[in-house]
Amino acid sequence: MATSLKVAVIGAGLAGLTAARELQRESHQVVVFEKFHRLGGTWAYDPRVESDLLGVDPNRDIVHGSLYYSMRTNLPRELMSFTDFKFSEKVYCDPRKFPCHDEVLKFLEDFASTFELTKLIRFNTVVTEVEVVDSEILTKFVVESKTNGVHSVEVFDAVVVCNGHNTEPQLPTDIPGIETWSKNQMHSHNYRVPAPFLDQIVVIIGSGPSATDLSREIATVAKEVHMSSRSALVNTPKLVKCNNLWQHSKINYISADGTMTFQDGVSVEADIILYCTGYKYHVPFLKTNGMVCVRDKRIGPLYKHVFPPRLAPRLSFVGIPEKGFTFLTMELQSRWIANALSRKVLLPSEDEMLSDVDEYYQEMEEKGLQENHTHSLVKKPQYLEFLYAQSGMVMEKQIKDVIEYFTHCYVMAGFDGYMDAFLEKYGI
Ligand code: FAD
Repeated sequence: MATSLKVAVIGAGLAGLTAARELQRESHQVVVFEKFHRLGGTWAYDPRVESDLLGVDPNRDIVHGSLYYSMRTNLPRELMSFTDFKFSEKVYCDPRKFPCHDEVLKFLEDFASTFELTKLIRFNTVVTEVEVVDSEILTKFVVESKTNGVHSVEVFDAVVVCNGHNTEPQLPTDIPGIETWSKNQMHSHNYRVPAPFLDQIVVIIGSGPSATDLSREIATVAKEVHMSSRSALVNTPKLVKCNNLWQHSKINYISADGTMTFQDGVSVEADIILYCTGYKYHVPFLKTNGMVCVRDKRIGPLYKHVFPPRLAPRLSFVGIPEKGFTFLTMELQSRWIANALSRKVLLPSEDEMLSDVDEYYQEMEEKGLQENHTHSLVKKPQYLEFLYAQSGMVMEKQIKDVIEYFTHCYVMAGFDGYMDAFLEKYGI
């Protein structure tokens, strides 16, 4: 017989909304805690920036969002859809295939109101602590929260962590001489508009979507923009698209006078460093007595990036994988969790799940992959297949075709051209 549980979902971004929907579908009693005054998480653009632009001061007032004003999606609508609620069939304010962030927010708001999720959300309510009370016969969670300063404590049967992982900057630790840098530096988490870079010589570290987008935007106002990335080849300084934007290899060293020299031999006297180097996992409220360990780029042990074996299925995480097709991945993870909680789906034993995680870590080691690749889905199409199998669903042919074509465009044209390549076939 199906079991109905009292479940706390932490966060009302994409992950929290999909979790709430699937849990509700399984008749669980759901409370969604959301510290912000509106839903959408990442997609609720927030123009504020933090007092510490690098985002490392533990005493700063944290701004959750990391979107920049001009940001457009880096995936087409077809790949930002739910299986039965398609972004490609909706238009709110921007009909493009790769729309602006406001269009995504409106889609999520529509999703929440269509499936009556908004009434489950407690806005302006931050979860300050989740303590696991775990014995041989019973697992419960004591959830402490604050709403406008008022403290509450409640007990839940299960917790789904959906607090996002694009807020705590990850900074490089291997730049020789960085400790002597006395000029400005910031992380892309605190970038909103290009105006502050007017007439500056800017060094951007990173090579992902944010580095690519921001370098082009900043080049429209800055004097010079120099991108530096580990993956760029040594000895290949190249002018990319704009006449004041260059691509370099890694920084070799920074001299005491602030001159920065890249491994390709070029030196610049930069005014500011902008780090587009990604984010760390951060779950400050979770107290599990060591059963779950959160380290910069790894949360573990997690069976298939979702369940900590010792506490499965009562504790789970949605949205931990990086660089995948987030909407689909989160929907399928949520369905798996909801079904596991109502015992429609059985998980392997604790020992089997732990062995699976151990094997996965060992495989990474054999391939020479660092810990920061733990939750990356790059080149792992089998993960989505696994999730489909858990939820008893089959990937639609149309979605399969779009994924294949999108991946093909990306491999052929890279960041510089994949959007145009995709639009050529699918139209704007
Ligand atoms: P979030 O959206 O971060 O939501 C987490 C929520 O939890 C927030 O509302 C937060 O306020 C709340 N919260 C956190 N802590 C607490 C607490 N203690 N108590 C209560 N509430 C709490 N994905 C795509 O699919 N396509 C794209 O084009 C794309 N572009 C991106 C561009 C940028 C610059 C960034 C940063 C991300 C992008 N992503 C993109 C990834 C995007 O983050 C995911 O699509 C998705 O929004 C993540 O959802 P989430 O719910 O896991 O986290």
